[in-house]
Amino acid sequence: MKKIIAGVDIGNSSTEVAVAQLEEGYVKFLSQHLVKTTGIKGTTDNVKGICTALKEAAKKASISLNDIELIRLNDAVPVIGDLAMDLISETIITESSMIGHNPDTPGGAGMGIGITVLIDKLSTLEEKEQEYIVVIPKEFDYEWAAYQINKTEQNGITITGAIVQKDDGVLIHNRLTKKIPIVDEVSLIDKVPLNKLAAIEVALPGYVIRTLSNPYGLSTVFELDPDQTKQIALVAKALVGNRSAVVILTPQGELVERKIEAGRVILQGANKQELEVSINDGAESIMGIYEKLGTLQDVKGETGTNVGGMFNGLRHDLAQLTGQPAQEIMISDFLAVDAVIPTTISGAIAGELSMESGVALASMVKTDKVPIQKVASLLEEKIGINVEIGGIEADMAIRGALTTPGTRKPIVILDMGGGSTDAALMNEAGKITSIHLAGAGDMVTMLINSELALENKELAEKIKKNPLGKVLSLFHMQLEDGTILFSNTPFPPHTFGKVLIREENELTPLPNILSMEKVRDIRRSAKRRVFVTNSLRALKRVIPTGNLKHLSFVVMLGGSALDFEIPQMITEELGKYGIVAGFANIRGTEGPRNAVATGLILSSVRKEVAQ
Ligand code: ADP
Ligand code: MG
Repeated sequence: MKKIIAGVDIGNSSTEVAVAQLEEGYVKFLSQHLVKTTGIKGTTDNVKGICTALKEAAKKASISLNDIELIRLNDAVPVIGDLAMDLISETIITESSMIGHNPDTPGGAGMGIGITVLIDKLSTLEEKEQEYIVVIPKEFDYEWAAYQINKTEQNGITITGAIVQKDDGVLIHNRLTKKIPIVDEVSLIDKVPLNKLAAIEVALPGYVIRTLSNPYGLSTVFELDPDQTKQIALVAKALVGNRSAVVILTPQGELVERKIEAGRVILQGANKQELEVSINDGAESIMGIYEKLGTLQDVKGETGTNVGGMFNGLRHDLAQLTGQPAQEIMISDFLAVDAVIPTTISGAIAGELSMESGVALASMVKTDKVPIQKVASLLEEKIGINVEIGGIEADMAIRGALTTPGTRKPIVILDMGGGSTDAALMNEAGKITSIHLAGAGDMVTMLINSELALENKELAEKIKKNPLGKVLSLFHMQLEDGTILFSNTPFPPHTFGKVLIREENELTPLPNILSMEKVRDIRRSAKRRVFVTNSLRALKRVIPTGNLKHLSFVVMLGGSALDFEIPQMITEELGKYGIVAGFANIRGTEGPRNAVATGLILSSVRKEVAQ
């Protein structure tokens, strides 16, 4: 008897479908399709995406949707919130007196120190002993502004620099009789305090500022005492690597410092055992304490701290989502990695950031109630086809993975998805041990986004997935390894001189402040911090002895196994233990994709045959 069934794998990122025809225990795969998961994994919002994927897969198989007799869903628990990822550090809020900025094309070069004064008040100045820095909001035309500055100079008043709101720095500079450094594109110019002592520094093209990015430079300019210098160090740090900066001193008493502690993590294990560790100790200590604890029952964050806020927020969000009381929601795993965190400095005129070190956390949350049942019911109702819930995701993945040519039991899989890294071991007898760990592709994207201060997830995702290049001339591009690529057709003008992401059919330029080396370093280290760490963690757990040397074959699955670097990094790391690791080729055609959906179909066949 013929029967058509579908396997549906709801992931954090993707919903994958496989459609197959079963005939007397034989399976013939007809088609597969992948869509972006709608809503959070394991919630009824997923139904929309599932329907789209099924329709497309049916179309590809040239069957009608109603020909499908049974849909098998993966047991999509534990639920993982995207929300679970957060960067945690100590936030120091300095009601700061000082600000820096990095426009593309400042004017002039050098240092200037003086009292801030509005451009239309220049004519009222009389104090010849005093030096001034002129502030030029956008309503003032560059030609008029230059004229005013020149005239004031002729009257014997010294102007040592200018702060300009529009991108007019060069235009004004060209018209000055006495050249001064000019910082432009200061968007929030109305926040620049007037009648205050300010310093301005602009470096020559290709150079970076030296005085204002040095705490002792600042203390010299503003005659600060050691305590004040300590407070200002954060500002100096924020200015490191900038081509230009403005720092303004506000009177004493306006300096307030407030701290929100990073906080302590409280890990709860079996038998009410509790261990604590401070976020400030760094990722290695945190993960070390976790290992010492062994089985994790739940994690809490110290209240009133950054980490407390994060875990509470997570619990609260999931409680709302599942209709369960927050205290019943447990964190079953987490991954901490060291991260560099851009911290906004309050008082910033143009969104300046200081890079602080902190810890990024991904966590996996378990809810008791199984919301996937709701998804199944709703899907059944909507689509009119029987829906059943298949086995554990990692079990299904391993069945799918075994369709990779050249593999056999015993086998270990690493399913590297968006939210979690899942691992499973199938021993010779066919017995499966599986685990789900927090932290995967989305965490890498988050780290890239944060450490490059992009504030653009799509761009971070693109950086993650593609190599870089730098267009040197119309026909030459330098690649990451230093080699030069010659192109037969000229590169588009907007890419000239830029570091860009080399997608297959598109070149996406990156912001000027990012160098190729920096982006590459952060990209690779983010991948390592998440995936190398997690693959070791995963393998140690699924192998009964915990000894990696007892293992020989590892097959990588999931979207992150498509990455152009991650599989090699893992292969290299596991090679140290004599393990052969590579990415899967599901059914000999699908690459690392579709393992769970394929496994859902195969597992149902095995069951029928057995009956
Ligand atoms: P899930 O099972 O959690 O839905 P997937 O297996 O679909 O996850 O994997 C999603 C992850 O894979 C995302 O983090 C995505 O960025 C990443 N990914 C997808 N395609 C690629 C690619 N070509 N290169 C690198 N990463 C990729
Ligand atoms: Mg998956």
